[in-house]
Amino acid sequence: MDVQRKLAILADAAKYDASCASSGSEKKDSRDGKGIGSTDAGMGICHSYAPDGRCISLLKILLTNACNYDCLYCVNRASSNVPRARFTVDEVVTLTLDFYRRNYIEGLFLSSGIIKSADYTMEQVVAVARKLREEHHFKGYIHLKTIPEADEALITAAGQYADRLSINIEVPEEASMARLAPEKDVRAIRRTMGRLRLKLDEAREGRKVTPRGNVGPRFAPAGQSTQMIIGADAATDRTIISTSANLYGSYKLKRVYYSAFSPIPDASRALPLRAPPLIREHRLYQADWLMRFYGFASDEIVSAEDGMLSLDMDPKLAWALRNRERFPLDVNRASREDLLRVPGFGAKAVDRIIATRRISSIRVGDLARLHIIRNKALPFIVLPDHRPATHLLDGAHLAARFKPKAMQLGFGF
Ligand code: SF4
Repeated sequence: MDVQRKLAILADAAKYDASCASSGSEKKDSRDGKGIGSTDAGMGICHSYAPDGRCISLLKILLTNACNYDCLYCVNRASSNVPRARFTVDEVVTLTLDFYRRNYIEGLFLSSGIIKSADYTMEQVVAVARKLREEHHFKGYIHLKTIPEADEALITAAGQYADRLSINIEVPEEASMARLAPEKDVRAIRRTMGRLRLKLDEAREGRKVTPRGNVGPRFAPAGQSTQMIIGADAATDRTIISTSANLYGSYKLKRVYYSAFSPIPDASRALPLRAPPLIREHRLYQADWLMRFYGFASDEIVSAEDGMLSLDMDPKLAWALRNRERFPLDVNRASREDLLRVPGFGAKAVDRIIATRRISSIRVGDLARLHIIRNKALPFIVLPDHRPATHLLDGAHLAARFKPKAMQLGFGF
């Protein structure tokens, strides 16, 4: 099989993995004439290279889509009837360098199905990163998917070459994991995440800042991330969010990625027939941001009895509507923590408010300049020239005002 065909298969097989992003990578510089690539221009982007030729920022591929395991939700599972392919280590190295030189990519996201054994597969993945770094002085971004059952020495080696490591937690509940991915060991996943956290902490403490930059042990400077599949089991949003909160707290993950389950060919009957609505994935990302940047605790975000986020409105607005007694807030006096809870106020807008109000009072006419979503915010705030009518904040109409308008379905004639 030629490399182009392998690329078509193995880039397509990798597209289900959402857990890649280059945010948080350390700045690298190849201006000394040694090495190629720099992650500096690629901060915060996460893309992959599709076989249709679209230029994207990370070459996102599997080393192989053959796999010994039979995770029911995975298109690459052992019992799946898909064409299989396998790159050699040298083929991945050559592709990465070639695409980089052509300016198609800024780095590599490499994952793999498990062949022979966890150790053998991890050795192959590490060999790609080692060759790129040591033989070709590649200084672009590298994200390696880690196999939790692999030997600790291999995971340590992976961290020496990679910017980011990730281990997929897959589904939020242990019972679902046993049912959907029986060969996977939740304890091994958690144990490896814990080890990564320790190594990341050690590396951070051991690195000294000198006038020539950071020196000392290097271990995945962009940290670790994970992915959770949404909608393959009956886990509620409340369970998903509290699992994420636990992962952030226990393992200091940089990111939890949420990937809406997509039905696969010849799927098991244990799986739902339909994908969850994409808006659910979006709401979970919004909830995740509330925990990471807006000071919300995981148990404040979902209140519905069914444990699900509203699909009609964002979780911050839904929280504000449930907690109307905390509003309206005086924008010129409220604390940063309280301002972060106002619908329509982003974290940067709150910083702008605090800087502006030191100099002058904020009025309605200033909201647009401060990048505040005026219609969303006005019912919840007080300004020198604005106070929402009590009946508006207390009335049942306020929630209806923010919901999408109902539309009659067309009949196609
Ligand atoms: S281990 Fe499971 S999720 Fe990973 S490639 Fe194999 S079947 Fe898919």
